Amino acid sequence: MSNFGTHLFIGLVVTITLILLFLPSYIFNLEILKLDNLISILIPSFVFSNIPDVDNKNAKISRYLIMFFIISLILFFINSIALWQRIAISIFSGLLVLYYLLFAEDSYDHRKFPHTFTFGLITSIFISIIFGSMIVLLIALVCFSSHILLDNHLFEAIDKDKKLWARLLKR
Ligand SMILES: [Zn+2]
Repeated sequence: MSNFGTHLFIGLVVTITLILLFLPSYIFNLEILKLDNLISILIPSFVFSNIPDVDNKNAKISRYLIMFFIISLILFFINSIALWQRIAISIFSGLLVLYYLLFAEDSYDHRKFPHTFTFGLITSIFISIIFGSMIVLLIALVCFSSHILLDNHLFEAIDKDKKLWARLLKR
C-alpha cells in the first residue's frame, strides 16, 4: 500500500525524468519545455501523483485537501495568472473537496471514480487548459498513471473504465 509520500516521491522522479528528456530540445532551440515557469510543472506533478486518493476518507487525505487549497490560494496571489485561470483553479479544488465530502470512504477497498483513467484524463485536460500547456497534460497523465500503478490498481482501473463507458454509451 503506497502512501502520500511514496506517491509524491515517485511523481517527482517521473517529472524530473520527463524534464531531463525534454532538455535536449534546447540544443535545437525547440524549447518544448518552458523552464521559466517551473511552478506550472511542479504543481500538476504534486497534485496528480495523489489526486486519486480523494476518494479515501483516511485521516491522511485531509493533508491532500489542505494541499489543494494552499495551492489554489497561492495561485490566487500570483499576478501572472489571469483571473479566469484563478477562478478555474478554485472551481477545480472546490469540486475535489465536494467529492471528498460527499463520496469518500474510510477504506482502500472502496476505490471509486477518481481511481479510473477517465477521471485522470478529464482532470488532466482541465488542468492543461488552465495552464495552456501540452507538457502539463503529459506530466499530469504520467503522474496520475504512476499513482494507479503504485496502487497496483491498473487492471481494476481499466475494468472500471470499461464499465463506466459501457453504461454511458448505452444511453
Ligand atoms: Zn490511490
